[in-house]
Amino acid sequence: ALLITKSCINCDMCEPECPNQAIALGTEIYEIDPTRCTECIGHYEAPTCQRVCPITHTIIQDAAWQETREQLWEKFVMLYP
Ligand code: SF4
Ligand code: SF4
Repeated sequence: ALLITKSCINCDMCEPECPNQAIALGTEIYEIDPTRCTECIGHYEAPTCQRVCPITHTIIQDAAWQETREQLWEKFVMLYP
């Protein structure tokens, strides 16, 4: 899964673009629900939130949620049975 860092300026560009509804406004900044983030596997070639975010390197790999391509595919299948 990906992670939104404190560089986030709450611009709301990423939230409506996430195909899995994994992004929502948290207590201070936007947050990604790692149980719903497939890194866009199943939908797009590359993470669409990173593509639309105006602040470079704000959305990064979540070191606590490192997953293989196969695991991300399994999550996609779980989300869309
Ligand atoms: Fe949503 Fe894709 Fe970003 Fe994950 S990588 S939060 S699935 S837009
Ligand atoms: Fe924050 Fe980037 Fe999402 Fe804007 S697009 S809300 S800066 S993570």
